[in-house]
Amino acid sequence: MTRENISSVHEALIVGGGIGGMAAAIALSERGVKVDIIDIDPHWRVYGAGITITGPTLRAYRRLGLLEEIKAQGAITTKTRLFKYDGTQLHDLEEPVIEEGLPATGGIMRPVLHQIMQARVKELGIYVRLGLTVSAAVNAGDGVDVTLSDGTHGRYDLVVGSDSVFSGMRELAFPHMGPAVPTGQACWRISIARPPELEFGEFYLGSVNPCGITACAPDQVYMWMLTAHEERERFMDEEELYTELKRLLADFGGNAGWIRDNMTRQDWINYRPLAAVLQPKPWYDGRIVLLGDAVHATTPHLASGAGMAVESGIVLAEELASADSVEAGLLAYQERRYPRCKDVIDSSMAVGRLQLAHGDPREHAHILEGALSRLNAPF
Ligand SMILES: Cc1cc2nc3c(=O)[nH]c(=O)nc-3n(C[C@H](O)[C@H](O)[C@H](O)COP(=O)(O)OP(=O)(O)OC[C@H]3O[C@@H](n4cnc5c(N)ncnc54)[C@H](O)[C@@H]3O)c2cc1C
Repeated sequence: MTRENISSVHEALIVGGGIGGMAAAIALSERGVKVDIIDIDPHWRVYGAGITITGPTLRAYRRLGLLEEIKAQGAITTKTRLFKYDGTQLHDLEEPVIEEGLPATGGIMRPVLHQIMQARVKELGIYVRLGLTVSAAVNAGDGVDVTLSDGTHGRYDLVVGSDSVFSGMRELAFPHMGPAVPTGQACWRISIARPPELEFGEFYLGSVNPCGITACAPDQVYMWMLTAHEERERFMDEEELYTELKRLLADFGGNAGWIRDNMTRQDWINYRPLAAVLQPKPWYDGRIVLLGDAVHATTPHLASGAGMAVESGIVLAEELASADSVEAGLLAYQERRYPRCKDVIDSSMAVGRLQLAHGDPREHAHILEGALSRLNAPF
């Protein structure tokens, strides 16, 4: 595919080499920008959960040239099936193929997805430095003067803050923004062997705590469950996580019941309180711009947070390539991303509120289907 080069940005610094940061790095590098990535994690790791890669997310990865790798190393499927929590089949979610040759939906283990993206970053010759963050970033003339946490300095035409929901770049350079807001829910996840009867993605509704299963490899799935978050004095240890998740699954049938009956203490289990926020505009200041959870953090209800981060990385590069100036490119990026991210966050939070209020599962399914079908529109 031929891509228009970006003439206004020669050197860019990406702060945070997660999903969004790597997507931006790849998209910018493919358009002729010399990209550096720094990441605070000295080992550039990601935790052992699975992740759902919806059709729109697969479409974004196809633009980055990574679809085939994801298909080969993850799992794809033609649909998601809705069940009542006891295992009674309800109906199938409408997940049309949105581009020829594109799978409807899929999943992959996060460490595998990171390896795929990291391999592409290395192939493009992007310079990656680890165990580092930004201590100061000052817009000066046509660039940004940056001081890193090891005391070194650099000057870049563009600095991209993609350093997670807890973004240090946001705190440093965007005083009109604030932290993500707790939603009152939490997400349980378990990575486990694939139940033998699992054919498609699965959602279980109608219980106080909805859950779902996504295949991530031929022999592996992850299951998530959303619950009301209860403040505890300390983190649960592995034994408590295991016992509590098993208890929460007590009434579930189908493959969710299979997971309850077959889970072991060796399976990876995680409990995470949820927080979300769509940060107010502007998403850029001079030549510093935010991307991914740093500026559009959502909850997992639509399984689209990572997809939004990848899309944002691509759109940033596209808009910089077609604009006459960096400022026009950043404004166009912000205006193109804001309504789409707002829809994802608003819809996800509406589903969350409904779940906390023990609302009608049909309304839950209706909001989910509406939002997912809007996401099928081009980004
Ligand atoms: C429970 C849960 C389940 C989810 N499930 C899904 C799903 O199924 N599908 C989906 O599409 N999305 C899902 N998401 C959302 C998805 O994980 C995020 O939207 C996505 O990871 C955001 O990517 P990011 O690059 O913005 O941030 P991150 O993935 O958080 O990456 C940030 C990177 O920045 C680095 N960093 C952090 N601080 C600094 C700093 N100060 N300086 C330098 N580097 C720093 C980190 O080490 C990391 O490498 C889920 C989220 C949660 C909470």
